[in-house]
Amino acid sequence: MPEFNKVTSEIRAKLENIVGKVNVSDHKDDLDKHAIDESPLKPHPPTLVVSPSSTEQIQGVLKLANDELIPVTPQGSRTGLSGASHPVHSGIALNLEGMNKIIEIDEDNLMAIVEPGVLISEVHEATEALGLYYPPDPGQESGSIGGNISTNAGGMRAMKYGVTRDFVNGLEVVLTSGEVIQIGGKFVKDSTGYSLIDLIIGSEGTLGVVTKAILRLIPKPKFTSLIYAPFTSTIDAVKAVREIIHKKIVPFGLEYMPQQAVLMAEKHTGKKLPDNSHPAYLLVAVEANSKEELDRELETAGEICLEMGAVDAYIADNAQRQNQIWEARKCLFDAYMAAYTLEEADICIPRSMIPDYVERADAVAEKHGVLLVPVGHAGDGNLHYFIIKKDETPEEEWDELMEAALSDLIDLSLEMGGTSSGEHGLGYTKKHYLEREVGPAQMELMKGIKATFDPKGILNPNKVWA
Ligand SMILES: Cc1cc2nc3c(=O)[nH]c(=O)nc-3n(C[C@H](O)[C@H](O)[C@H](O)COP(=O)(O)OP(=O)(O)OC[C@H]3O[C@@H](n4cnc5c(N)ncnc54)[C@H](O)[C@@H]3O)c2cc1C
Repeated sequence: MPEFNKVTSEIRAKLENIVGKVNVSDHKDDLDKHAIDESPLKPHPPTLVVSPSSTEQIQGVLKLANDELIPVTPQGSRTGLSGASHPVHSGIALNLEGMNKIIEIDEDNLMAIVEPGVLISEVHEATEALGLYYPPDPGQESGSIGGNISTNAGGMRAMKYGVTRDFVNGLEVVLTSGEVIQIGGKFVKDSTGYSLIDLIIGSEGTLGVVTKAILRLIPKPKFTSLIYAPFTSTIDAVKAVREIIHKKIVPFGLEYMPQQAVLMAEKHTGKKLPDNSHPAYLLVAVEANSKEELDRELETAGEICLEMGAVDAYIADNAQRQNQIWEARKCLFDAYMAAYTLEEADICIPRSMIPDYVERADAVAEKHGVLLVPVGHAGDGNLHYFIIKKDETPEEEWDELMEAALSDLIDLSLEMGGTSSGEHGLGYTKKHYLEREVGPAQMELMKGIKATFDPKGILNPNKVWA
């Protein structure tokens, strides 16, 4: 790790010159706001919050920071869950919220060009108004496209369509030298050279700053429906996930919620779900271009659920009912955070292993004296485990217990051929798990890549692997 310099009044004046005086702040409210993300990590305030409005300004900021050895932490909406946008070495928090224009929606090429601060909900709204679809749907709708790209965000529709990486066709990126590179474009195929776009996607702001993105769109499916299926046991529910996949049904979403999560969601939203009296629930979401195809998928998925032990298969056939169920699923992190001290494991395993994983994870909870609540993306193997502090656990013992439980959950994932982070990234809180997963040869390659992009190590230092 380099010895970084402090931001002097001369450097501040130069920054003000680049982005304008009002866009450089050391006001306590701004420093506090930009010191955190949504992870339970303690705050790391930057020295200054710098809010550029153009690629040229970002070029200027990075060149200056690189020359002066000042750390720079790119920030989107700060909804990340692994401390990736915490300015752990202070310096500059590069706030990209203001670069929030949808530049173009190109219906002839099925592409959208957006600035990094555009919210995922805004991309959905603008494209769907034209009958188009940007499938990635990470649960936090106020996350930015820059943040989604930098974490390779996944979300609710990954099972059918894939993740953010599968829908990014081009990027404009500013390097620490101040140079701008244009990677990819609106063309659909590309066999030219190394895939730099794939290095930037998921690099958590450590290689360059994304200043523009070209997103791939598809036509929006015409019909959508959702099955809400209560089960008498968790194991039956997760076995049904395996069976649905085995029978070659591909819902766009296949989410798991235990009863406790259903009750938490009802309390948090103040709205009742169709049933809350069974131990486990699956949400099976399907979409199609004809009513016949939709009905066929619904019928088959519903039958499989019933054969596998569901006591019912409620069908939410209108947008209002579907939205209410999605709202319940999407509020879970906030609901649990408000009620408990917790950390979240974001493992992803081969989907067929989910029943085994769920059974073996119980032993981790018992061993470390924590509560474990699995929720979420069962259909793509990316179950989230809330690791929850029991009331009787003393505060001073929590960090150690939580880390030990997280470590065992990750080990279990690796043992089953999975990964430590399916969609949130390693950021700051989980970076020490990378080497365990990829081994020394890949670690050396990654260090070499970082050194090539950012030789002085000023960009989001101490993240991902460092
Ligand atoms: C309730 C809740 C639900 C969530 N559900 C999901 C989910 O279903 N799926 C999922 O994948 N995630 C989920 N998340 C996590 C989070 O929303 C995503 O990680 C999201 O992609 C973060 O976007 P952001 O704009 O908030 O990025 P930030 O948190 O601000 O930053 C994340 C990382 O991206 C970097 N970065 C941001 N912008 C740029 C840029 N322009 N150039 C370079 N680097 C940049 C930052 O340095 C940091 O490393 C959830 C979070 C919450 C709170």
